[in-house]
Amino acid sequence: ETRNSGEAEFLQAAREVLETLAPVLAEHPEFIEAGILERLVEPERQLIFRVPWTDDAGRVRVNRGFRVQFNSALGPYKGGLRFHPTVNLSVVKFLGFEQIFKNALTSQRIGGGKGGSDFDPSGRSDAEVMRFCQSFMTELVHRIGEHTDIPAGDIGVGAREIGYLFGQYRRITQRYEAGVLTGKGVGWGGAEVRTEATGYGAVFFAEEMLLRAGEAIEGRHAVVSGSGNVATYAIEKIQQLGGRALTASDSSGYIVDEEGIDLEVLKQVKGVERARISEYAARRPSARFVAGGSVWDVPAQLAFPCATQNELDAEAARTLLKNGVRAVSEGANMPTTPEAVELFQGAGVLFAPGKAANAGGVATSALEMSQNAARSRWDRDKSESRLHGIMRDVHEASYAASERYGRPGDYVLGANSAAFVTVAQAMLEQGVI
Ligand code: NDP
Repeated sequence: ETRNSGEAEFLQAAREVLETLAPVLAEHPEFIEAGILERLVEPERQLIFRVPWTDDAGRVRVNRGFRVQFNSALGPYKGGLRFHPTVNLSVVKFLGFEQIFKNALTSQRIGGGKGGSDFDPSGRSDAEVMRFCQSFMTELVHRIGEHTDIPAGDIGVGAREIGYLFGQYRRITQRYEAGVLTGKGVGWGGAEVRTEATGYGAVFFAEEMLLRAGEAIEGRHAVVSGSGNVATYAIEKIQQLGGRALTASDSSGYIVDEEGIDLEVLKQVKGVERARISEYAARRPSARFVAGGSVWDVPAQLAFPCATQNELDAEAARTLLKNGVRAVSEGANMPTTPEAVELFQGAGVLFAPGKAANAGGVATSALEMSQNAARSRWDRDKSESRLHGIMRDVHEASYAASERYGRPGDYVLGANSAAFVTVAQAMLEQGVI
């Protein structure tokens, strides 16, 4: 804690994992002897760099760029880039740390890393975003590669940004190394269903938990936070499975649509126009906009936090419980505070932690890397069925580990311990490095 003082998010993420590992360590004293825990919480490498760029008015701007290469015991570093004003070293480290375990759960042989910048793309022109991305990549180019480190998207980094980043990588290296970034356009090396994968995956995971309990998504109401990549496709899959998604949000507030979210309108407003979420309510008579506030106030049996870290706290958890919530599946990374997780688990709510529930995105990214390496392209059906299979396997592995370590249905314990054993064993076999 002293070494990482001031890194609140990272300490929260590390504590959450370490606190669940006692039963695993009791079975594996060799992990303690080999210093696995001490090594696991220290990134292999951390890069912080200046990103200068010029805005449309000709003014020079300076942002800070990050890439934390956390652990490569299972494969090359893999994890997204986040562009948001709240990005700092603590946030990047928490995300990178989570990524190690998430990636292990996918069984895709990828290590954990994460990066980003405190650049705020909202309100910026395409030309400004392009210049920023080019400057960011000019520095990062020396540190990444299809066999070393493969970035992807996250908050504020979607297909547009990946395109600009890839263009600059290709220009500087003078090589077409398709597998260096994932989340590319489907016309030039991107995998089908990658855009949808994280949101779809979080819903598939919820479906698996419910199926195990003899229940279903069909006929149930869901509250979803966020209105970006993950939220949009969680809503789409909930509706395809016969549920009704009632809400979406952004940093200005949320909308409730009693008839269920109209995806065409949502995609137009948030994806195409990059407008505020209130614009959705302006176009749908069945919807209303609530400024500020929290989607968790809306009664529903299913909850999908898909915006950002610590967005669902104890007070929100109490409201959801009062309204009869049955399952919570984290599309975002660490959106539920530790107190809220405890309340859900204490009340017997099915709770899926992000490192398991949102692993579908990075798993599909790994499939994109395989297709790039083989110079092949899978169709939509094959891509979605692989994603579905992986999410079933992640659920199964998490459930099995929760049983093995004495708390059946505790998916936090299950996901952490299954992933930890995989990574720790690889580290052990590779020696003290
Ligand atoms: P997007 O940028 O597409 O969307 C983010 C959404 O969350 C926006 O609606 C945004 O609102 C809202 N949001 C972000 N920060 C805040 C904040 N501080 N307060 C309130 N609302 C906020 O990002 P993604 O959908 O890709 O990512 C969402 C979450 O899912 C993140 O936690 C990310 O780490 C996680 N994730 C993403 C994966 C992916 O494949 N993209 C993979 C696995 C996890 P606004 O527009 O107003 O900022």
